[in-house]
Amino acid sequence: MNDPIKVVMMGLDGLNPDLVYQWKDKLPTLKKFMREGIHGKIKSTIPPITPQAWTCVLCGKNPGHFGYWDFTFRNEYCYGQPELVSSRVRDSRVDSVYKNLSENGKRVAIINVPVTYPPPEIPNGYSISSFMTPSVDKQFTYPASLKQEIRAIIGDYIIDASTSDTNFREMKKEDVLKRIYDMDNQRFELTKYFVKEKRCDFIFTVIMGTDRVPHLFYRYFDEDHKRYTHDTRYKDALKDHYRFCDQNLEEILNLIDENTVIIVVSDHSVQRLDGRINLNEWLIQEGYMRLKSRPKELTPLSRADIDWSNTKAWATGFTGQIYLNVKGREPEGLVVPSDYEETLDELSERLISITDEQDKKLETKVYKRKDIHTGEYSKFGPDLFIYFDNCRWNISELVGYDSIYSYDTPLGPDDAGHGPFGYFSAHGPGIPKLGEILEADLLDIVPTVLQLMGVPVPRDMEGTVLSEREERVYSDEDEKEVKQRLSKLGYFG
Ligand SMILES: [Zn+2]
Repeated sequence: MNDPIKVVMMGLDGLNPDLVYQWKDKLPTLKKFMREGIHGKIKSTIPPITPQAWTCVLCGKNPGHFGYWDFTFRNEYCYGQPELVSSRVRDSRVDSVYKNLSENGKRVAIINVPVTYPPPEIPNGYSISSFMTPSVDKQFTYPASLKQEIRAIIGDYIIDASTSDTNFREMKKEDVLKRIYDMDNQRFELTKYFVKEKRCDFIFTVIMGTDRVPHLFYRYFDEDHKRYTHDTRYKDALKDHYRFCDQNLEEILNLIDENTVIIVVSDHSVQRLDGRINLNEWLIQEGYMRLKSRPKELTPLSRADIDWSNTKAWATGFTGQIYLNVKGREPEGLVVPSDYEETLDELSERLISITDEQDKKLETKVYKRKDIHTGEYSKFGPDLFIYFDNCRWNISELVGYDSIYSYDTPLGPDDAGHGPFGYFSAHGPGIPKLGEILEADLLDIVPTVLQLMGVPVPRDMEGTVLSEREERVYSDEDEKEVKQRLSKLGYFG
């Protein structure tokens, strides 16, 4: 009998598939995985935001089952999202892959995966929390003794690019870039240490630099960026960081044995940001929100003087989520339940007609929660999700702007936003040499891992097993080429 398959899964937060394909000749390890395994774009969650996207990777279920769409969430029908997400909330609502695997006798390590604070207690396994860890003085590892052990290997654990008293957007560029590399090096070194020393069956590490670098440096390489800045020091900052990750993937590939699959996955892309729609300001202009008094400066929604009993809707989030103020549901609800659908339809129509500041049409999509997210906790979620121009425009929820357009966040400029597709590839035993796979979804990751490792896939998981996909004859590009040729030959009209 063959030895059971093990998996090392490297989460590269925000890795942009378009850039991976564009730079693939400089990324030999990812290119090797493309040639010898499966790869493709992978559909992120709606909205494509880190905490909920990685949670979908962990549990294989849509966010309605765990009840958060952001870093914060509401657990009752209140105004705002007062609670911070945590592993405790998730683990009380859904099973994660570490539970599925450890219950089946597998040895698991979860390193720096978002929303793993407090560190999950994995029987016979390990966990190290990520950037939502309050401080390294807290207990952020399981078992507790692991904290000293990793300190001996990598020194003081760097929680994230920002320190508790420094916003990474305001740090000197060279300092923050160095800190990101130091931080990512720690995660890669820990992964290698676990591969070599811990005999784990499943290691899942998330690297955050692939998200942090583009947020800070996108303007230096994309000449279409509104704030494109020519600076030879940072022109290749993002590409160099992708190469650094590729080199580390090669080192990990060289350490694993022939029974180990390596999976690379990103939770969304990070892409150029063209601007922000000040969505609550727009709701005020359109008569959906009323203020008792206008703030003198930019003010977060939670501190704005809102006349709730005369407000129909409020907005929050990065890409734009709208909650309706429903009578009998929210404390001072206004929209009567029988008008719920009509109000959402009317709002959707008006949102889609918002142009950019030059009056140019935006490719805006809206999604009703009930059409995309099911599950016990769906009811507390936003009623409407918006993608302005495929997420090239984000939103600001602050109140007090004199226009509906802005660029900077209250914390400083942000060069990039999140796009709706991440990247994935898989390589190793049990992975067919199929090349590009279409229509993969983050929800497919756990079923794929469990199936590869011979662990039953729970029936209520929503994804499919990527390594069992049928071979595709034509890629998108090939299909276009052949259709064009047939059309020129007169076979198509
Ligand atoms: Zn992310």
